[in-house]
Amino acid sequence: SDDESGGEEYLFKVVIIGDSAVGKSNLLSRYARNEFNMHSKATIGVEFQTQVMDIDGKEVKAQIWDTAGQERFRAVTSAYYRGAVGALVVYDISRRTTFDSISRWLDELKTHSDTTVARMLVGNKCDLENIRAVSVEEGKSLAEAEGLFFMETSALDSTNVKKAFEIVIREIYNNVS
Ligand code: GDP
Ligand code: MG
Repeated sequence: SDDESGGEEYLFKVVIIGDSAVGKSNLLSRYARNEFNMHSKATIGVEFQTQVMDIDGKEVKAQIWDTAGQERFRAVTSAYYRGAVGALVVYDISRRTTFDSISRWLDELKTHSDTTVARMLVGNKCDLENIRAVSVEEGKSLAEAEGLFFMETSALDSTNVKKAFEIVIREIYNNVS
């Protein structure tokens, strides 16, 4: 859409999904505020954070949504997904069950979206190499099979966090422009 100055403005909704405690809220707080919380509670959560990015000289705003812990009850609502054009689908590399859940999250995302969604598979907590339960190769091949981008991240030490969000936002921009 056009703004008053005649330029274009972009506002994209991005959702973060995945099992409880994989690090969704900390990925967002690391990206949006450069903050990490070792004892974050599932109930504490803002609805969304808006981040501004410059792509090809255009101001691109990403409204990034975090669950308020509803995923514990398998009850993330359709309102959460409504209008999303990007998604980070997160598991914890130290807990295999969270990786096994990915296909269910992808199904749910597909069910609730009526448009092309730029999707990134995120293996978070890559700082926990000593207790790794899912190999990089497994993450890569699932992403390839499902047609997703893939990245391992650490919200704790900041590895690839900015990159993961920015690749998704850039892909959304490419999809619409
Ligand atoms: P959410 O339920 O998916 O939103 O997960 P949280 O962001 O609340 O994180 C759950 C727990 O994992 C918290 O104790 C965090 O401190 C911890 N955590 C989150 N990200 C990382 C990470 O990258 N590395 C490590 N070691 N711990 C993390
Ligand atoms: Mg959370």
